Amino acid sequence: MTRKEFLLMSTAAAAGGAALANAQQTSAPQPNPDLGFKDTPMEPGMPWHVHDPDRPHPKVVTPAATLGGAPSDAIVLFDGKDLSKWYHRGRGANRDAQVNAGWKVENGCFEITRGFGDLLTREKFGDIQLHVEWASPAAVTGTSQGRGNSGVLVMARYEIQVLDMWDNPTYADGGAGAIYGQWPPLVTPARRPGEWNTYDIVFEAPQFEGEKLVKPAFFTVFYNGVLAHNRKESMGPMVYRQVAHYTPHPAEDSLMLQDHNSNPVRYRNIWIRRLAGYDRPEK
Ligand code: MG
Repeated sequence: MTRKEFLLMSTAAAAGGAALANAQQTSAPQPNPDLGFKDTPMEPGMPWHVHDPDRPHPKVVTPAATLGGAPSDAIVLFDGKDLSKWYHRGRGANRDAQVNAGWKVENGCFEITRGFGDLLTREKFGDIQLHVEWASPAAVTGTSQGRGNSGVLVMARYEIQVLDMWDNPTYADGGAGAIYGQWPPLVTPARRPGEWNTYDIVFEAPQFEGEKLVKPAFFTVFYNGVLAHNRKESMGPMVYRQVAHYTPHPAEDSLMLQDHNSNPVRYRNIWIRRLAGYDRPEK
């Protein structure tokens, strides 16, 4: 249903109710109980009554026709066709340059390809909901952190690990779904090598005032639909063999997919939503 259809339906219902009320009483217009109440208590600390008819209605979003598909308000970062929304960093003195994405796109997915480095989005984000699908190679090679290693790095810093977990012992805080180096996932609902996995990630960006951290980052992660992190606080950007700690950075930054020694991990169906708070004004 579009927002217009939704509003028309609401208005029609309201008109019916109002006609009935007017037939019974012709004095001051009565609040329509179908649309809310003004004689109810105030919500604590809010400008709204309980069931307030004037409280802004949430934006209507059309969900995807298929499971795991992008809803109408998502930014589709990869739709199976091209990597135009992504880039690689330049090398050496040209590190700030945006080099067109070179990873191989084929059969509706793309694969980490040697020689390009990490992949970053041209658009930058802060608080987000993210859907990513990934598959480690069907042909198994390597052990531990050398087997199907990649990673989803939100703000190009905060990593949810990607790794082949099938019969592949490694340290707990480095397994698939881990907030790398900090928190193992609550459980490991891994699929076999070559099969597709999903990550649905909600990320709250850290907030800084000058040099000072005033709010840390939080991750909520569903791994193949199973809860792996429940608003877990991040200790800081991903580091290897060190304790993570925060240093100030911009409020928005690129989403990054890691090239870890060019393990040929595949990705598909990537979409992202910018998150906004409750009670946004209706447009
Ligand atoms: Mg990794």
